[in-house]
Amino acid sequence: MTPVDVVVVGAGQAGLAVGYYLRRARLEFVVLDAQQSPGGAWRHGWDSLRLFSPARYSSLPGWPMPPYPGGGYPAAGHVRDYLAAYERRYELPVHRPVRVGAIRRAGDRLAVGTDTGTWSAHAVISATGTWWRPFVPTVPGGTLFTGRQLHTAGYRTADDFAGQRVVVVGGGNSGAQIAADLHTVAAVTWVTRRPPRFLPDNVDGRALFEIATRRRRTLDAGHQDTSGVAGLGDIVVVPAVRRARDAGVLRAREMFARLDHDGPVWTNGVAEPADAVIWCTGFRPALRHLASLGLRTEYGVPATDGTRAVAEPRLHLLGYGDWTGPASATLVGVGPTARSAVAEIAALPGIGARWAD
Ligand code: FAD
Repeated sequence: MTPVDVVVVGAGQAGLAVGYYLRRARLEFVVLDAQQSPGGAWRHGWDSLRLFSPARYSSLPGWPMPPYPGGGYPAAGHVRDYLAAYERRYELPVHRPVRVGAIRRAGDRLAVGTDTGTWSAHAVISATGTWWRPFVPTVPGGTLFTGRQLHTAGYRTADDFAGQRVVVVGGGNSGAQIAADLHTVAAVTWVTRRPPRFLPDNVDGRALFEIATRRRRTLDAGHQDTSGVAGLGDIVVVPAVRRARDAGVLRAREMFARLDHDGPVWTNGVAEPADAVIWCTGFRPALRHLASLGLRTEYGVPATDGTRAVAEPRLHLLGYGDWTGPASATLVGVGPTARSAVAEIAALPGIGARWAD
């Protein structure tokens, strides 16, 4: 077992942000990442995927994201390059490809089992994201449909659907962006569980972060929140979505009742043949490596106090969503929660003692 102060699992934006603060705290750490190369979830996603904030509002701690050539909302490749350069700039000790299998308690340490050996750590920060656990709801007849079914995670480009009848399911950002993307080449039916709620055109990722932070402060102060992001809407109106919405092609229908061989069927019996159904129905946190710790859950995720797991104070969870810090699943939002996670870890008994020698 290789001893180290802290093991970070995952080298996406959350893992790198926390690496930055671990370096500053002069703790000995490694970042283990299952992929072949840098970029986390930004190595995947569809060709036309755009950030929902300009570059200057999409920075990790310490080093601003360089401007996107030509301005506007950066493409995924720009984020990928930024994350790769960030790793190099701060000489973060990322080991890849290394897949963490299971984390177990081992006396006063945690044993982090991987496909290349075991690490022994005072503390573990789990930053594995959600991209790796696509969620598709169960619908009646789901297995009958003879057309193609895929999740957001499998969508690459509209050209794959040229001339086809495509049903896009989901009223969030991915559903809106993919429906907007496809409209130019395919006959799209956009289906949402409730009427789509576009955020005001001037609300982008930075404004969302500010709203989420205010909300957290309100809740922490014991007041009822009335100004959350959820009250404003769901869909950030990036330029491609705005163009499609303004052209009147982003009109949604209510969710269908079931699928049959040819396509969706609505409650009133209306059926619509389709060649493909794309499920833009979200992701769940990728937490299988924590199953061995038997953590207590709340609302389906491990109970946390800030980022710290209530049932295991040596474990922090970072970057998964608002339950791990306000807007912590965004580039701009993950920094403050990463900093407070490291401050808590640095105060653990016995940690960093090497530096005091
Ligand atoms: P990831 O980027 O997923 O990184 C996790 C890393 O952990 C990966 O490299 C993975 O391989 C690795 N890993 C997983 N399991 C293991 C394991 N067992 N062992 C070892 N390694 C493991 N965010 C923004 O800030 N701005 C935006 O504009 C924005 N737009 C978005 C638009 C869409 C449509 C979507 C779907 C997301 C958007 N996001 C945006 C969110 C953002 O993409 C993700 O929240 C972000 O990538 C999460 O970062 P992360 O570091 O937590 O996880």
